Amino acid sequence: MVEEQLRLRGIANERVLAAMRAVPRELFVPPELRGRAYDDAALPIGEGQTISQPYMVARICEELDLHGGERVLDVGTGSGYQAAVLSQLAGDVHSIERIESLAAEAGERLAPFGVHVHVGDGTRGLPEHAPFAAVAVAAAAPHLPETLYEQLELRGRLVVPIGSRREQLLQVIVRSPEGPAVLRTVPCRFVPLVGEGGFRA
Ligand code: SAH
Repeated sequence: MVEEQLRLRGIANERVLAAMRAVPRELFVPPELRGRAYDDAALPIGEGQTISQPYMVARICEELDLHGGERVLDVGTGSGYQAAVLSQLAGDVHSIERIESLAAEAGERLAPFGVHVHVGDGTRGLPEHAPFAAVAVAAAAPHLPETLYEQLELRGRLVVPIGSRREQLLQVIVRSPEGPAVLRTVPCRFVPLVGEGGFRA
């Protein structure tokens, strides 16, 4: 997975590649899909949601430009896989999921990784733990989630898919004194972000 799906496709950050190697994806997929845990694809995790494609998880981590020690917010815990990988790259990871059953299952899986799991509408962020050096959103937003941008440190990075329910551009946004600066956009497809700053359920 690391060599073929990640390195050959341009993921070059060695810390990110090591983090992807360190976290067993099979722990985060349903038991009946374990045989497909290293497929080059998103996989169903129940409740109509998915565990993200390994390449997208690595790409988001690389775009966040983490060096260790940062406080990070992961929106859309899902299986917990992205949060587990982030825990290898940053100091303090908070992850928020709106579907209680998914948050509960992920909370158990993430305990050994030291990730703090919250239940709620991630489009509101986590004001009590802000500011964050980095915010990763694993669900598609119709527009820039302002509240999440506001919870970034200066020079902090927000990576979020923005577009329609069906297709989006993964946008890498940096908080700057002049306002949001878009560093890069990558075509992608995520499940919808549902909530106050997202789509309707
Ligand atoms: N990072 C996850 C991907 C999960 S898919 C993984 O690696 O497995 C995206 C998740 O975002 C889904 O579980 C969905 O329920 C959740 N989600 C959608 N809108 C949300 C919101 N407003 N707040 C928190 N979670 C949300």
